[in-house]
Amino acid sequence: MANTRRPLVAGNWKMNGLAASIAELDRMIAGVKAGKPVDVMVCPPATLVAAFAGRAKGSAVAIGGQDCHAEPSGAYTGDIAAEMLKDAGATAVIVGHSERRTLHHETDADVAAKTRAAWRAGLLAIVCVGETLEERDAGRTLDVVSGQIAGSVPEGATPANLVIAYEPVWAIGTGKTPTTADVAKVHGQIRERLRAISPALGEGVRILYGGSVKASNAAELMAVSDVDGALVGGASLKADEFLAIAGVYR
Ligand code: PEP
Repeated sequence: MANTRRPLVAGNWKMNGLAASIAELDRMIAGVKAGKPVDVMVCPPATLVAAFAGRAKGSAVAIGGQDCHAEPSGAYTGDIAAEMLKDAGATAVIVGHSERRTLHHETDADVAAKTRAAWRAGLLAIVCVGETLEERDAGRTLDVVSGQIAGSVPEGATPANLVIAYEPVWAIGTGKTPTTADVAKVHGQIRERLRAISPALGEGVRILYGGSVKASNAAELMAVSDVDGALVGGASLKADEFLAIAGVYR
């Protein structure tokens, strides 16, 4: 059966961007024509979500958050609820990014709670998984990623509310990427794990590759079987580069 998954190219701006960055978003909006066979999303820092969502309204660019709290409201100074992202105009949120898992000590259970929060608010959850270099060198990549899927994806997942991003930690921001054979192996295994939950999940959930994707390697990586798009960090900050990556799907 032919794959009917619509690719997604999402940009994770991390802690980058000021009000003036809306000019970059404008260039992205202008460059993503409706009718292209790809979903394009920008995930700016929380301070810019409302402004970006307002600007992108009616365009082919969606806006997402980079993290959310598990609770809808409360005494959590500095945190942002999924409902707040939704209220600001986001349609999705990244959860479990390796920088959150490492720097903020987020566990699979935390990520599962955030995923539930995203769904409660009506957001698409982009759940990140991926092994460290140490785990890779120990030959544990498939085990680690399978464990993260089992622990981070709660009951209630559907192809419409879940995207998985496979991001080897050692490939993020380093300029290094796995071989296409390695990417195919891990994505295939993730799809098997999803299929074991339900055939519909296995068939329909999009699995993005993330980690040093740029215009020069996007075509090769996006052509790998079971790769349904990209989660892009550094290369998503500039419209030309980001549009060239999304332009792989034409
Ligand atoms: C990321 O942090 O999600 C990411 C993929 O970063 P980069 O593209 O910069 O490696």
